[in-house]
Amino acid sequence: MAGKLRVLPLGGLGEIGKNMTVLEYEGSIVIVDTGLRFPAPDQLGIDLVLPDFAYLRDRVDDIEAIFITHGHEDHIGALPYVLRELDIAPPIYGGPLTMAMARSKLDEHKLKDQSVEYMRPGDVRTAGPFEVEAIKLAHSIPDMYAYALTCDLGTTLLTGDYKFDQTPVDGVPADISRLAELGNEGILLLCGDSTNADRSGWSLSESLVGPKLEETFSRCEGRIVVTSFASNIHRVQQVVDAAELLGRKVALVGRSMRKNVNIGSQLGHIHIPEGMLVEPREIQDFPDHKLIILSTGSQGEPLSALRRMAHGDHQHVRLHKGDTIVFSATPVPGNERAVNDTIDRLFHIGADVVTPREAPIHASGHGYAEEIKLMLNLTNPRYVMPVHGDYKRIKLHGELAEAVGIEPEAIFSGDNGLPLEIDADGASFGEPEQAGMIFVDGLDVGDIEDVALRDRRMLSADGIFIVVATVSEQSGRSVAEPEIIFRGVPFVDEEDQFMVDLRGAVIGSLARSAQDDIREIDLIQSRLHDDVAAFVYKKRKRRPMVLPVVVEV
Ligand SMILES: [Zn+2]
Ligand SMILES: [Zn+2]
Repeated sequence: MAGKLRVLPLGGLGEIGKNMTVLEYEGSIVIVDTGLRFPAPDQLGIDLVLPDFAYLRDRVDDIEAIFITHGHEDHIGALPYVLRELDIAPPIYGGPLTMAMARSKLDEHKLKDQSVEYMRPGDVRTAGPFEVEAIKLAHSIPDMYAYALTCDLGTTLLTGDYKFDQTPVDGVPADISRLAELGNEGILLLCGDSTNADRSGWSLSESLVGPKLEETFSRCEGRIVVTSFASNIHRVQQVVDAAELLGRKVALVGRSMRKNVNIGSQLGHIHIPEGMLVEPREIQDFPDHKLIILSTGSQGEPLSALRRMAHGDHQHVRLHKGDTIVFSATPVPGNERAVNDTIDRLFHIGADVVTPREAPIHASGHGYAEEIKLMLNLTNPRYVMPVHGDYKRIKLHGELAEAVGIEPEAIFSGDNGLPLEIDADGASFGEPEQAGMIFVDGLDVGDIEDVALRDRRMLSADGIFIVVATVSEQSGRSVAEPEIIFRGVPFVDEEDQFMVDLRGAVIGSLARSAQDDIREIDLIQSRLHDDVAAFVYKKRKRRPMVLPVVVEV
């Protein structure tokens, strides 16, 4: 007598990011993916956004294993936090590259004792009542696996992120025959990627990007800076190949770019010819027309290499007229503003900018509508619960399922925290469980109330300093006497020598930033914040809230 299967998404629905799904059967739990999201611009002071996994707190003893589909942050990024906060050390499985990335994350978080185990395509692992099989699919990062989780009741297929690329750069396309086999055996539930459900037709093959990049590069006379996702190792390979053909060398800039290329080369996913790489510190002395710089920052991320170049404060790269910046990526929804801002800065410097709007130099890693239909037809599921998408794309994915002949009653447009419950009699949504966001602020994990509460605690105990500084856009130097406003600060009054010294600390911080050639407002502000907070703590052992406001003129 088969029991009841519960499939509970804790993240990834109604949003693009922080994917995490909990499968429960006979009291046992298997987790697929533990992803994160980057904070929205209005979530000030927050470093990362994680799925709220409070539901698992009372169930830690039931967790049998964690399976990770691939190494993108929206699938793997919350792993160290989940392990640490729940204080668990279950078996962790994934492809070789995925597990290499997990290893490096766990080491960074000092979780050295936690082991990870890699699976090959077709491998099966037992986790409680589930047999879990890894199925190779193609995506914008190597070693992307879908998981087929089979219990007495049937098989649930979580696709992870995929496209049906017939000519992937690594020559290993999706295991279509296995998907079809599973379809013939009978899939109970399909939870598929909805990211591009709104795009008709088929996605571009990754292999077509290489020749287009080469074509674009061949028109450039000066230096070329290419930016793409650091984890898109196939794209990195195509840039390296194009560079070789055009007789240019490659410099890798940005920490995650260097790290991913390193891991990718060790695992044989990327091949860089001997003598091809130029060290970042050699960039300035290298002839412009002989160089391609591969950089992070395609999403306009605040501290990324490209953003710093655009603001003229990158340690090794000074952009100038004649340089061409090639965006081999499109902005993830939510990042458009930051990307546009970066692009405009680049034009201001006098550089040329090429984006996927001007040339097909980017291919999405997510299948379009026809590919989603192909997945549905191959696997022929009894029930469908679209995942990995905002509400619009989840709805559109449902419409695609209907279009290929799945009964509307068998399509479940879910939400985070809403468990789909399946037994021998049918499927329906159960009672909602706690789900939402938790925040990482420095090393602390908490919900939004915790952050607000901490702010209020600081305010009530030690008050607030607002520091207003005016700096020159050209030189980054302070051009007016900084203003310091304070409220509710119990340990200082206006005439105090402390205020004079504090002003000195502010001027010192601004001068140091100017000296280090920092012109990015965010960075000047964050250094000002740290310097003022450190000064106040040193002098008075107090921690007031410090709000730096830097105005550019
Ligand atoms: Zn992905
Ligand atoms: Zn994803």
